[in-house]
Amino acid sequence: MIAEHQGIGMTSQRTRDRLITRLKEQGIQNIDVLSVMRELPRHLFVDEALASRAYEDTALPIGHGQTISQPFIVARMTEVLLAGLPSTQKILEVGTGSGYQTAVLSRLVDRVFSVERISPLQNQARERFYQLKLNNIKLKHSDGSWGWEDNAPYDGIIVTCAPEEVPESLLLQLAPNGRLVIPVGGSHKQSLRVIDRNGNGFEQQELDAVSFVPLLSGQI
Ligand code: SAH
Repeated sequence: MIAEHQGIGMTSQRTRDRLITRLKEQGIQNIDVLSVMRELPRHLFVDEALASRAYEDTALPIGHGQTISQPFIVARMTEVLLAGLPSTQKILEVGTGSGYQTAVLSRLVDRVFSVERISPLQNQARERFYQLKLNNIKLKHSDGSWGWEDNAPYDGIIVTCAPEEVPESLLLQLAPNGRLVIPVGGSHKQSLRVIDRNGNGFEQQELDAVSFVPLLSGQI
């Protein structure tokens, strides 16, 4: 890795290792998820002025009223998604944002498709993927409530913004035995849901209380 990716001081490997220790203490067990998050330079996914805070376990602003998700949530959602997946994995993400969650997934699965409604965020994310040589990611500028039909079905779908209800298009774009991980609820009270498509329909589990930015319609 080149020096810029390795970081110095508050972005050093030692600082990153502390975050991984914390994630383990909070219950993250998937060693592949932990090892990808240990390597991936989260400080390149935030504004330079915030780089020194990139390895704190906290959400940070990325502009346009949006946030890069808290590392624990990224780890948790990725772990839950992977636990339900077959070996060939084609994943859809709704809400590219900074691209950090997308990048974590790209190192763990075959292909990632990611939809974002705010064009400048998508462009910055694309530039980061190019810099980091992440070549298995395809992006679309669109309202992700409709999923991304052209590439469906998906083995897994992950949504990083919260709708009030699960969008039906996403359920329909899940492959047989596919898994959807999605925060659902209004601005104050959301819960993380896991929905599995099985032979008879869909099976839902409710996990942790979470706090995501809302899923909004349209694109800008
Ligand atoms: N995983 C991202 C999360 C960013 S916040 C990260 O860690 O950086 C959630 C993102 O969802 C925002 O960028 C927001 O613009 C986007 N979003 C909200 N509603 C959307 C929609 N209907 N379609 C696509 N993206 C949406």
